[in-house]
Amino acid sequence: MVVSQPTSEIDRAIGEVAHRWREAKRAVAFTGAGISTESGIPDFRSPGGVWSKYPMVYFGEFMADRGKRGLYWMRSRDMWPAIASADPNAGHRTLAEAERAGRLTALVTQNIDGLHQRAGSRAVVELHGSATRVVCLGCASSEPRERVQPRLEAGEIPPDCARCGGILKPTTVQFGEPMQVGEMQEAASLAQSCDLFLVAGSSLVVHPAAALPGVALEAGATLVVINREPTPYDDAADFVFRGPCGETLSRLWSALGSPRP
Ligand code: NAD
Repeated sequence: MVVSQPTSEIDRAIGEVAHRWREAKRAVAFTGAGISTESGIPDFRSPGGVWSKYPMVYFGEFMADRGKRGLYWMRSRDMWPAIASADPNAGHRTLAEAERAGRLTALVTQNIDGLHQRAGSRAVVELHGSATRVVCLGCASSEPRERVQPRLEAGEIPPDCARCGGILKPTTVQFGEPMQVGEMQEAASLAQSCDLFLVAGSSLVVHPAAALPGVALEAGATLVVINREPTPYDDAADFVFRGPCGETLSRLWSALGSPRP
């Protein structure tokens, strides 16, 4: 069921999902870039998103070609201020509160911005790593991402490791780079064992992460999707809210009522 209007339909769907969430023994959330746009971080695929401004640099090109590495770091230089200055929004805060209240077993995120942890979520699986640190692929030394920004702004692009001259890379999983096996397995097992799978702010087109709602459906879970635009799972999902993550999650949480005793 896709709901975007009228208000009475949304209210009814909110009530039904809140009921299923209340009954759920293991609820799992799955988030994407869309939950962080309300914190001022652009997503990838919306108009004005990251891919409309920068070329995609695959991991193999990043490793083999210093020029491509420079392009990658230019994007990183321009995106970092938005991540560094962002604060968690109502969507992040609601999911953190749900975990504290015993209503959310875990949260799987494709995001690299660290906002779920900053909102207080603890059981977080970061499928695509984190942009908040940088590692040297030569000597494995690592440092906070914020320390590299002044070097980038001074024109040091791409930056090299100050210790060994090796290739520096944020601790994120880049396109064309293998997924982190442990995180992927944990996410698959969460999807397999949950009875409510709540997607918030993902286009659900980036695989293998986008297969997770299918795993949850196969296992018999209720699938709820909150996304501004259509997703490939809209027909299969039990409920689809075509609205903003922050407001929809807050309304669901209010409708859920008191925390688990
Ligand atoms: P995506 O850009 O493909 O999709 C985001 C979706 O969210 C879009 O369909 C858009 O319509 C929707 N959306 C945007 N704002 C919304 C809002 N306020 N409420 C509801 N829906 C909203 O992002 P994705 O599915 O996460 O794609 C995966 C890739 O994006 C991952 O690799 C991830 O690492 C990367 N990414 C992360 C960040 C971040 O950490 N904040 C930012 C950009 C991209």
